[in-house]
Amino acid sequence: MANNTGPGSVDLIRYSFSRPIALAKTTLDTESLRFAVIGGGISGLTAAYRLTRLVPDARVEVFEGSNSLGGVLSTHRQGNLLVEHGADSFLAKQPWAVDLCRELGLAEELIPTNTQHRRALVLRHGKLHPVPEGFVMLRPQRVWPLLRTPLLSWRGKLRMMCERWKPRPVGIDRGDYDVSLAQFATERLGREAFERLVEPLLAGIYTADAERLSIAATMPEILPLLRQHGTLWHRETSQESESQGHADLLASGARYGSFVTLRDGVSRLIEALSAKLREENISRNRPVQSIEREGSDKWRLKFSDHSTSGPYTGVIAALPTPRTAELVETLDPRLGQLLREIEYASSAIVCLLYERDQITRPLDGFGFIVPAIEKRPIVAASFSSVKFPGRVPSGQVLIRVFLGGATQPQAMELSDQELDRIAQAELAEILGVKSAALASEVVRWTEKMPQYHVGHLQKVDAIEDRVNAISGLELAGNGYRGVGIPFCVRSGNLAAERIVARVNSGF
Ligand SMILES: Cc1cc2nc3c(=O)[nH]c(=O)nc-3n(C[C@H](O)[C@H](O)[C@H](O)COP(=O)(O)OP(=O)(O)OC[C@H]3O[C@@H](n4cnc5c(N)ncnc54)[C@H](O)[C@@H]3O)c2cc1C
Repeated sequence: MANNTGPGSVDLIRYSFSRPIALAKTTLDTESLRFAVIGGGISGLTAAYRLTRLVPDARVEVFEGSNSLGGVLSTHRQGNLLVEHGADSFLAKQPWAVDLCRELGLAEELIPTNTQHRRALVLRHGKLHPVPEGFVMLRPQRVWPLLRTPLLSWRGKLRMMCERWKPRPVGIDRGDYDVSLAQFATERLGREAFERLVEPLLAGIYTADAERLSIAATMPEILPLLRQHGTLWHRETSQESESQGHADLLASGARYGSFVTLRDGVSRLIEALSAKLREENISRNRPVQSIEREGSDKWRLKFSDHSTSGPYTGVIAALPTPRTAELVETLDPRLGQLLREIEYASSAIVCLLYERDQITRPLDGFGFIVPAIEKRPIVAASFSSVKFPGRVPSGQVLIRVFLGGATQPQAMELSDQELDRIAQAELAEILGVKSAALASEVVRWTEKMPQYHVGHLQKVDAIEDRVNAISGLELAGNGYRGVGIPFCVRSGNLAAERIVARVNSGF
């Protein structure tokens, strides 16, 4: 990471859109620099914070469209109840979010998930069973747990065992090889393993349609593994486990040990980041409508009330890609079109508080996922108070039920009352809940989860090429190279470092 060496002088690590390319040292007239960051989610706030670290004398302003910062990071605290309305934890192995917490002085507040019941359950014919031990998404690593699991028939198990002898997929050695997750998993592991294990584990993360999801963009480590070993039945060495990238996010069904959160909720990260910025430079309820050139090398932001702000040396748009498209399409229509082609799914979370003794079934996991083939109206449920003990009054449990996503868009048409009714009815049936919830809250996340469809990486390459041709503009956010919080932090860091490097180089 770049170090500041004093006012006006900046050490820069220059990045291409996704990786370091060179180290440069320069002197800038930093006091005259003024940057705008559009979007006050984790990506935008990280970018703004990083800019203030790289160029302490510059003015860095954040424009957030809603009345609060944080985007999908939204912790609600009431008495001794702590409810995450959106994201609830992040992977420690992808280092960027943990590193940021340390840098912000939050290291002491980082807590792991509960050591008890670290596993996910899967619904089959109305009953819950644990994901077989050693099955990390597409990778079956242990034979016995697989043979014993009631989640698959003997035929399905046998088919999975045969993966070792399947020929490598045609074209896998090409750098741009990509197929849908459904096609890949079905061809390698069989239809049953796909439907009963792979599809639900993924739907829980991307709330996605596995028939369209890109294997290359969502599981980049799988293709090199298959190229190298010729089979998915490769038992991970500790070194490989350490160097895992995106895989861990996808492995959340089976890898809860790798997740951490902050004692008082993920919003602590947002609070700590915003505390590092000047309050007068943060504007809430200020949705940016367009960005326009001012002169040859500056920018001006326009708002819906026709007011403007500027001039800015550089602008970072840290928004869902369809929102960024609205801002840039008059500047570069093709860029706008590419950004719009990345689809986003909507979902709802029903947060339910129960008396523990009203739930018949043991809560011996961190939650359960529901395969699409079960044809139920919910996608998953997280046993939040098992995952993170101490966040509800004793004797009570908090369960978050997920609905909607790419495969159930019709759920988003329902009223809050109907979503609540469905969630409670499903828990009554699946967990044997005997009475109504003590409290219930419905949270909607409209177009918040990007869908990395087949060909996503090529699309992002094309977006990056076009952005690289526009001086003083950078993009960050979850729509490009990773949806998890660590990837968003990385995207914010990189956008800040790139924009400073480009301003420094005169472009
Ligand atoms: C329901 C859900 C649960 C998740 N759970 C996890 C999890 O547990 N762990 C994990 O690692 N990841 C999780 N993720 C993924 C991760 O949380 C998100 O990818 C990440 O928080 C996105 O951050 P962001 O800043 O890129 O975007 P956002 O959080 O979407 O922030 C963008 C911000 O821009 C603002 N905005 C939009 N338009 C404008 C405009 N025109 N002008 C100004 N501001 C604007 C929005 O109001 C918003 O505040 C989850 C995602 C979802 C949807």
